[in-house]
Amino acid sequence: MTLRLFNTLTGQQDELKPSDGDTIRMYACGPTVYDFGHIGNFRTFLQVDVLRRFLLLTGHKLRHVMNITDVDDKIIRNATAAGIPISEYTPRFVEAFFEDLDSLRVQRPEVIARATEHIEKMVELVEKLSATGAAYRTEDGSWYFRLSAFPEYGKLSKKDLSGMEDGARVDVDEYEKDSARDFALWKAAKPGETAWDTRIGRGRPGWHIECSAMAMEYLGDSFDLHAGGEDLMFPHHENEIAQSESVTHKPFADHWMHVRFLLVDGRKMSKSEGNFYTLRDLLLKGFKASAIRFALISVPYRHQLNFTFEGLTDATNAIDRLRTFYQRITTGSFPAGENADLQTACKDAHSKYMEALANDLNTAEARAPIFDLVRAANTAIDQGKFSTRDRDAVLAVLQAFDAVFDVLQDCDAEPTQRALEWAKSSGRMDDVAPELVERQSMTDEMIESLIAERTQAKKQRNFARADQIRNELAEKGVVLEDSKDGVRWKRK
Ligand code: AMP
Ligand code: ZN
Repeated sequence: MTLRLFNTLTGQQDELKPSDGDTIRMYACGPTVYDFGHIGNFRTFLQVDVLRRFLLLTGHKLRHVMNITDVDDKIIRNATAAGIPISEYTPRFVEAFFEDLDSLRVQRPEVIARATEHIEKMVELVEKLSATGAAYRTEDGSWYFRLSAFPEYGKLSKKDLSGMEDGARVDVDEYEKDSARDFALWKAAKPGETAWDTRIGRGRPGWHIECSAMAMEYLGDSFDLHAGGEDLMFPHHENEIAQSESVTHKPFADHWMHVRFLLVDGRKMSKSEGNFYTLRDLLLKGFKASAIRFALISVPYRHQLNFTFEGLTDATNAIDRLRTFYQRITTGSFPAGENADLQTACKDAHSKYMEALANDLNTAEARAPIFDLVRAANTAIDQGKFSTRDRDAVLAVLQAFDAVFDVLQDCDAEPTQRALEWAKSSGRMDDVAPELVERQSMTDEMIESLIAERTQAKKQRNFARADQIRNELAEKGVVLEDSKDGVRWKRK
């Protein structure tokens, strides 16, 4: 099955195929580790995770590269304010980023590349650009890309750049203006800033050259797909194309995927607007990581998504329905045989699900047949018309669903627990929802009585309830150990 994915470069859906006939080589812009990411950032990483998982589900081999921008204007500004070098400033945000990815069950790319470990490759690119006349050095020792050297500039974002001022320059990493300017490839060292001594002088890379260098290092001059949030299309990705293609004279990436924004009240969720939530903020309010994942991916990447708490509550309820059903069919006992209608329903649900994802990763259309199937199967169980072969067929559909959505197994205790530990250690207990604190503060008697109820439930073969109790306790930081002498428990 081939994925038809909208391509910003061609303005239409194109089939995504490995151009080397073997492995899909893709690059997705990673985080800038100057602070904790907000859930808008994570929406983009989650949608790339959906892409990744669907490609794996359809049998593709992947080489997926993600960068970590660990040197840029904002990092330098914050590290300077904190009075520490950037190498001491960024590690805790890198660590937090990976913890958040784990909480959201985002799979790791095959390659994770840090900008500060690829300075040599960036210097090499600037040298090559300089040799062709596409890069020039200014008096202070910085290097700029000469836009007039790349007539195709604007081909990705389709911006009309006819009024472009020749030779006008910009040295900040991010700019939103529509006008295109010669942009900084390398910034001369300023007093007190982190800098590298290199063949092109003492300084540090501009943001755009970082991605070109790391993409080419791990994927070659040309590769299959480049992804990022919609704000990166211009100028970041446009600049990446200009720098790379000016050196290689080959198409940089065939396919460009841009994830549309997460909004709050119609405006982009962003640090500068102050309208953002981090993952930790939401976990401390008592929302589960699985519900956040589900809410952020259930609206397809090509649509903007308005963030609301009701949306998270709906996602929580939807996951509960799925998990209850999953428990029901995995712990219940059913007669041998099959129900022809249900077998057909399974086949239909599976093909609708796969077809919806193959059609530009339409996650909203993909989840619908799964919920329909759950409803049909529940009805069949209620009517005693559900047999072992139906269970197997339904489980196979759920497996395909979960290969991409990954919300069926209850893994929510750990992220919540981690967020609470973080709140404690960073003096943020005031932000913790009272019900979460209450859930955390169980007396020994309450724990013992739940364990007794669980033992009873297991005796009655009510494994769904037994598992529910185990998970409830885990969420409160209580770990159970079943042994032949009974159940032991301890607080984490
Ligand atoms: P940053 O850490 O700022 O470099 O951003 C990491 C990723 O998040 C980039 O791909 C951005 O385009 C993306 N991004 C930033 N804000 C949002 C948002 N509100 N919704 C979706 N993606 C976003
Ligand atoms: Zn990038």
